[in-house]
Amino acid sequence: MFDKLKKAFGGSSEPEAPKVEEKVEAAPAETKAEAPKAASAKPRIGYIHLSGCTGDAMSLTENYDILSTVLTDMVDIVYGQTLVDLWEMPEMDLCLIEGSVCLQDEHSVHELLEAREKSGLIAAFGSCAVTGCFTTFARGGQQAQPKHESFLPINALVKVDLALPGCPVAPEMIAKAVVALCEGDLDYLKPAMDWAACDKGCGCDVLTNVIRQGLCTGCGTCALACPTRAMGFSEGRPSCDRDRCIKCGSCYMMCPRSWLPESRIKKETGL
Ligand code: SF4
Ligand code: SF4
Repeated sequence: MFDKLKKAFGGSSEPEAPKVEEKVEAAPAETKAEAPKAASAKPRIGYIHLSGCTGDAMSLTENYDILSTVLTDMVDIVYGQTLVDLWEMPEMDLCLIEGSVCLQDEHSVHELLEAREKSGLIAAFGSCAVTGCFTTFARGGQQAQPKHESFLPINALVKVDLALPGCPVAPEMIAKAVVALCEGDLDYLKPAMDWAACDKGCGCDVLTNVIRQGLCTGCGTCALACPTRAMGFSEGRPSCDRDRCIKCGSCYMMCPRSWLPESRIKKETGL
């Protein structure tokens, strides 16, 4: 199933291996019991924590109802600083990366580049990884690491296949995205694939690209998605308090009109 995903994300063009179900059907009746089981091919997942507050990992653990099933039955966690006792990074099907990358932190830069080499898919996990979020404002000079002052979204250094924005990412979004990845549900993952290429990370982008284009329907989703209440909502229209905005990008990416296929609509309507 991850071969299908890799192809969809522009990855390996190697011919797809025959599906397990097909092998089972083609096998003689007496050998059916020996056919390989789909459950044996659990996706190998890595988790890397770069610069952030760990809020996304905490949000992941809030999936109390399905977390143990996901971790034990659906995926193999093969790499992670606090999850796996392993120094060498192995090959992975998917690597979740939380946090932005600090350019002065050589270890983080190398780990990110190595993850790109060794992972079939890279998912930017949380707004620090997707847009830089509040780490964008870091100026260095902190006692522990005074030279750490330039923090970038990970797509500034490596190709990102999926993005899950949020400060932190909603637990439900994490659970549904992981299950969709395990099941190869590309329809569900399409917005996350689009978000990986999105370069909008500010409440002002909603004002510029949605409201001023006459596209806003007044649904209020942007205000609901805002973790700092920078995006307000009154009399059917959102408004942005720039001083409170931490540039997480959630409002823009969650807005159902920010991804309006304008060119396609113009083509179909002859405008
Ligand atoms: Fe994030 Fe709110 Fe700023 Fe939008 S307005 S980018 S949701 S902090
Ligand atoms: Fe308008 Fe988009 Fe906000 Fe809905 S989410 S109120 S369409 S800007």
